[in-house]
Amino acid sequence: MDRERPPIRSCPQCGSRRVGHLGGYHFFCGDCCQELQVRPSQGRIDVFDIDEEGNLTAVGSLRLSRAGRPAP
Ligand SMILES: [Zn+2]
Repeated sequence: MDRERPPIRSCPQCGSRRVGHLGGYHFFCGDCCQELQVRPSQGRIDVFDIDEEGNLTAVGSLRLSRAGRPAP
């Protein structure tokens, strides 16, 4: 059960609104085909590539404020 509203409504990388909520702080962009993992305590979003087998490879991180939230 999610008590908080998901902090991402559009992809911070490509701006797509095809962002699915996987649960918790995990999101998936249908255009980038990348998983976004929000780390509120660290103020950033980690970005992962997903291969055919579903393995995640870290490709970088973004400032959380770019997702539409003001920086703390
Ligand atoms: Zn995207």
